[in-house]
Amino acid sequence: MTSGCIFCQIAGGERAAKVYYEDEHCLAFQDVNPQAPTHILVIPRRHLILLNSALPEDEALLGHLLRVAAQMAKEKGIEGTGFRVVINTNAAAGQSVFHLHLHLIGGRTMRWPPG
Ligand code: 5GP
Ligand code: ZN
Repeated sequence: MTSGCIFCQIAGGERAAKVYYEDEHCLAFQDVNPQAPTHILVIPRRHLILLNSALPEDEALLGHLLRVAAQMAKEKGIEGTGFRVVINTNAAAGQSVFHLHLHLIGGRTMRWPPG
């Protein structure tokens, strides 16, 4: 737990969130400001600040986060129609919460490139 981190607070049960899935390594919960019909955040329980904070020994964790995102897409019924998994990294890319998180976004048609 890193004090003042809202995602650590959610992982610790100190801040409310609609949690869809959790295990010893990660948590998947509803984004409070959804950008699509499905918008779920997948986070490691451990406070990694951003993607570049991950070390070689975190490879299994990163893979696990991706697999959980794919499983959530399946459970939400969007794996066939299409979905995106996005990791905004640092300010110019739009990162606003500095605890690593994957956005799972789907349920609508999306444009490319993203803005
Ligand atoms: P970023 O901009 O860092 O890539 O994404 C942060 C995401 O966290 C945003 O989509 C934002 O809506 C979401 N968010 C921020 N605060 C909270 C919160 O307290 N609860 C939940 N569930 N989502 C949050
Ligand atoms: Zn944190």
